Amino acid sequence: MATSGGGSYRNGTHRNSLKVDRPFSMNSNPKTSVKSKPLSSSGLRRSSTGSIGAAKDDAGVPGRVRVAVRLRPRNTEELVADADFADCVELQPELKRLKLRKNNWDSDTYEFDEVLTEFASQKRVYEVVAKPVVESVLDGYNGTIMAYGQTGTGKTYTLGRLGEEDTAARGIMVRAMEDILADVSLETDSISVSYLQLYMETIQDLLDPANDNIPIVEDSKTGDVSLPGANLVEIRDQKSFVELLRLGEAHRFAANTKLNTESSRSHAILMVHVKRSVKGKHSALSSEKGSNLHMKTLRPAIVRKGKLVVVDLAGSERIDKSGSEGHTLEEAKSINLSLSALGKCINALAENSVHVPVRDSKLTRLLKDSFGGTARTSLVITIGPSPRHRGETASTIMFGQRAMKVENMLKLKEEFDYKSLSRGLDIQLDKLISEHERQQKAFENEIERITTEAQNRISEVERNYEDALEEERVKYQRDYMESIKKLEEQLVKNQQKHGFEKVPVRSEDDCSALTSNTESSKISAVEEVSELKKLLQKESLLRKAAEEEVNSLKSQLAQWKRSEASGNSEIIKLRKMLEDEALQKEKLEGEIAILHSQLLQISSEADETRRRLDRGGSGKVPGDLDSLFSQVKLQQQEPGNGEKASVAKLFEQVGLQKILSLLESEDSDLRIHAVKVVANLAAEETNQEKIVEAGGLTSLLMLLRSSENETIHRVAAGAIANLAMNETNQELIMGQGGIGLLSITAANAEDPQTLRMVAGAIANLCGNDKLQMKLRGEGGIKALLGMVRCRHPDVLAQVARGIANFAKCESRASMQGTKTGRSLLIEDGALPWIVQNANNEASPIRRHIELALCHLAQHEANAKDMISGGALWELVRISRDCSREDIRTLAHRTLTSCPAFQAEMRRL
Ligand code: ADP
Ligand code: MG
Repeated sequence: MATSGGGSYRNGTHRNSLKVDRPFSMNSNPKTSVKSKPLSSSGLRRSSTGSIGAAKDDAGVPGRVRVAVRLRPRNTEELVADADFADCVELQPELKRLKLRKNNWDSDTYEFDEVLTEFASQKRVYEVVAKPVVESVLDGYNGTIMAYGQTGTGKTYTLGRLGEEDTAARGIMVRAMEDILADVSLETDSISVSYLQLYMETIQDLLDPANDNIPIVEDSKTGDVSLPGANLVEIRDQKSFVELLRLGEAHRFAANTKLNTESSRSHAILMVHVKRSVKGKHSALSSEKGSNLHMKTLRPAIVRKGKLVVVDLAGSERIDKSGSEGHTLEEAKSINLSLSALGKCINALAENSVHVPVRDSKLTRLLKDSFGGTARTSLVITIGPSPRHRGETASTIMFGQRAMKVENMLKLKEEFDYKSLSRGLDIQLDKLISEHERQQKAFENEIERITTEAQNRISEVERNYEDALEEERVKYQRDYMESIKKLEEQLVKNQQKHGFEKVPVRSEDDCSALTSNTESSKISAVEEVSELKKLLQKESLLRKAAEEEVNSLKSQLAQWKRSEASGNSEIIKLRKMLEDEALQKEKLEGEIAILHSQLLQISSEADETRRRLDRGGSGKVPGDLDSLFSQVKLQQQEPGNGEKASVAKLFEQVGLQKILSLLESEDSDLRIHAVKVVANLAAEETNQEKIVEAGGLTSLLMLLRSSENETIHRVAAGAIANLAMNETNQELIMGQGGIGLLSITAANAEDPQTLRMVAGAIANLCGNDKLQMKLRGEGGIKALLGMVRCRHPDVLAQVARGIANFAKCESRASMQGTKTGRSLLIEDGALPWIVQNANNEASPIRRHIELALCHLAQHEANAKDMISGGALWELVRISRDCSREDIRTLAHRTLTSCPAFQAEMRRL
C-alpha cells in the first residue's frame, strides 16, 4: 500500500520528491542509440582488486540499483474472469509512472526508472533493463539482472525464454549472451557459465542435478562469494549456450501451484563469467608507475573479470495463496526465507541501516555484491493486471520502490594475469638457457681452434729451426773437411819437396849449391806461411759468418718463443673469460632455481588457500620422507584437515613410483603407511589416472591377494573403491579379476569398515551397464549379499547402493530391449533382503532400496516374483508414504503402468 513515504504520488500530488538521476543510462529510444557506455562516460575512476599495483582509491563509483516495472497482458483466464472489471494498474510510460487503483476514484502513483507496458517488446525490455548491465560486465564490472514478482506475471518470460519458435520472443539470458559473444575475442577472452537453482536453502547444479548442496565460499580478503563446486562450462558459441539453458530448464524443479502450473518454486541463477585480456595502455593497473625496473620488464598481462548474474526469483506470493499441499509447506517456508531475507536486506539498505542481514539466507549471501555491493544491478518487477491480485501487485511495487533506493559502488574487477606471466617467465628462462649453452659451446670451439693453430705454428717453427741448424752443420763439416784435406795435401807436398832436397847433402862440393837451395826453400816457406795465414783468415771469416747465421737463427727462435708465449697468454685470457661465463651461468641457474621455488611456493600457497577454503584448515609441510611418513601416520591416527595437504606434498616430493614401490616393501609397517598414502591420493580425482597409469591399481589388487593384514585389506579396498568410480578403471578392475579378489576379501573380513570399503567398491562396479553379466558371473551379487551378515548400517547402505545401481542398469537394459527375463538380482536371491529392508529406519539404506524396488518393478518379467515375495506391498507403501516426492511419483507411475500389479491389487 502506497501510504508510506516511498516514491509515490497521491491524486496527482507529488508526495515525495525523488532525486532520480535519469533512470537507466540507456535512453528511452533504443532504436537510435548504438551502444551506451554508462560507466566510462561518467568519468568513472577505476579501481582494482589486483594485489600488485592495485589502484590506490578503492572506493568505486556510485551506481544506484535501477528498477523497471513490466505489466503482463491479460491472459485467457483473466479475459473471461475479469471481463467486467478494469485493470488494477494504469501505466504512464512517458512519465515513467504507474498508478495503482485503490477504488473507482482514488489511486496511488509511483515513479520507476522505466515503465514497460503490456505491449513492450522483448527487445525493448532487453535494451532498457539488461543491455547497460551487460556492457558493464564486458568492461570488467560485476552485473546483476533480477526479476521479482508474483508467480505467473512473466519473470521467466522476461529472462528465460529461448525464443526458438519465435526469435522476437528471446529473453534476456539469450540476448545477453549474443551481445557478449559479439563483443569478445575468443582467442584472448573466455566466457564460462554456471546455472544453478536455489531451492529450500539448498543450491543445486542445474547442469548436473546429482551435484546438489553446493556450498557458498567466501574469500576472506575480498569478501567475494563463489561456488567452486558448481559446473563451469566454457561457452564458445550461442548454440551451445541455448542448449545449456534448455538442459538447465529441463532439470528445474517445478511444483504445481494454483496460479500457474508451469511456475517454479525455486530461484534460478545463471552466472556468466567473462574474462578479458586488456592491452596494457587501456588498463587501470598498467597506468601506474612501477618503481621496480624488474617488474616493468616482466609486467604481466592484465585481465578483467566481469561476472553477470541473472536471477529468476521464485514467486513472491504469500503461502496461503499458492495452494501448496503436503511437504510443500516446508518448501514454501524456505522459499519465503530467502525472499523475505532479500526484502529485509533491501529495506535495511534503503534506510541506510547499519546492519544489513546478508547472512540470513543463501540468496542474500549470493547476491551480496548485487545489493549494496560493487555490481551494476538492474531489477525488473513483473506484475499482472488483474484486480483480484491487487494485494500482491501492491507489495511487488513496494519492493521495487525500496530497491530503487539502494546505492552500489561500482568497481572494476581487474587484476594481473600471474599465470601467463609465469608462463612467459618460463619461456624467457628457457630461451636464455639455450642461448647461453649455444654461446658456451661456440666459445669452447673457438678456444680449441686457436690452441691447435698455435701448436701447429710452434712445431712448424721448431722444425724449420732444426732443419736450418742441420744444414749449417753439414755445410761446416764439409768446408772443414775440405780445408783439412787441402792442408794435408799441402803438407804432403811440402814434405815431398823437403825430403828430396835433403838426400844429396853429403859432400863439400855440394855446399854452395846447398846454401842456395836453402835460401830458396826459405822463401817458399815464407810464401807458404803467408798463404796459410790467408787461408786461416778466410776460414775465420767463414766461421764468423756462420756464427752470425747461428745468432740470427737463435734470435729468430727467441722471437718464435716470444710469440708462443703471447699465444699462451691469449689462451689464459680466453680461459679466464670462460670461467667468467661459467660463473655467470651458475648465477643464472641460481636465479632460475629461486624463480622456480617462488613459483612453486605461489602455487602451493594457492593450493593451500583453496584447501583452507574448502575445509577451513591448514596443513603443516614436513621436510623429508621419514618425517612425511610420520606426519601421515599421525594424521591417519587422528584424521584432520592437514592430511590431504601433506599427502599431496608427499606425492610431489617423493614421486608416485617411489610410493607405489613401497607397497611391496619388506617392512610391513612401511607397507601399511604406503597403502594409506596411495588411498589418500586415490581419493582425489586428479590423481586417479596417474595412479592407474603407474600400475597402482594392479599393486592394490595384488595386496588384496597377497596380504594377510586386515588394515591393508581395508585401506586397499578403500582405494580400489575410489578408483572404481571411473568407468575405465571399472573395466580394468574387472579385467584383473577384481571381483574374485573383493569377494574373497569380503568373505574373510570381520571389520565392518573393511566390509564397507569392499561393498562400496562392488557397488561402484554395479553401476556400469557393460559389466553386469561379468560381475554377476564372477559372484559379485552373491558377495554383496554375503556382506549383510554384518549388520553395520554403513555396510548395509553400500550393499543397498550396489543393488540399486545394478537394478538401475538392468531396468535401462530392459527398456532398450537388450535384456529379457528375470532380474539377475532376483535370480541370485536378493529379493527377500530387499523386501525386509525396504522400510529400514536408516534413510540411506531405505532410499537405495526404494529406488531398487522401483527399478525392478519397471520390468514386467519381475512382477511375479515381486508379488509373491511381498515387494508389491512395499511399492504401494512407497507410492504413498515416501517423503521424497520424485520416488513417490516413480513408484506410483510404476504401479499404475504394470498390468500384473494392477490385477493383483484389484484381486485383493
Ligand atoms: P513467472 O515466471 O513469473 O511465474 P511466466 O514467465 O512463466 O511467469 O509467465 C506466465 C505466463 O504468462 C506464461 O504463459 C507466459 O508466456 C505469459 N506471459 C508472461 N509475460 C508475458 C508477456 N509480457 N506477454 C505475453 N505473455 C506473457
Ligand atoms: Mg517462472
